[in-house]
Amino acid sequence: MINMAQHTMTHLTVACMDGRFFDEVYQYLNYRGLVGHTDVFFVAGAQNNFLQPESLELAMKQVTLSAKLHEMKTVILIAHWDCGAYGGNKVLGGGEEEKAKYTDDLRAAAKVINNNFPEINVELLLAKPEGEKVNFETIV
Ligand SMILES: [Zn+2]
Repeated sequence: MINMAQHTMTHLTVACMDGRFFDEVYQYLNYRGLVGHTDVFFVAGAQNNFLQPESLELAMKQVTLSAKLHEMKTVILIAHWDCGAYGGNKVLGGGEEEKAKYTDDLRAAAKVINNNFPEINVELLLAKPEGEKVNFETIV
């Protein structure tokens, strides 16, 4: 059900376009009561877009519009395991090095966002399959 009168959004969720994770990302947002209260930007590599010259403008435009039009206060930035935009497990190894890469990039992307919007809170998450479910680990 759409509510056109609801024109403010507390959050902006930035996640990868990888459809394997869509249902779990949606369920996670629903669990937190954020469906209908978060803008969404699904783009390959999610956090990586804030770190590449060719995609920085597009990524920051989403943050800017969400903040200025919808009064968004918090960005939820979700990296995910085996991300094809990085070459996936094959390139990153599927272990601690892979986790370190996503973690480093999440933190770097948060800095880019906060350089432009110091008042915006940026939550960092790493989505990793555990059995048939996905665990959303908070990265600090
Ligand atoms: Zn991905």
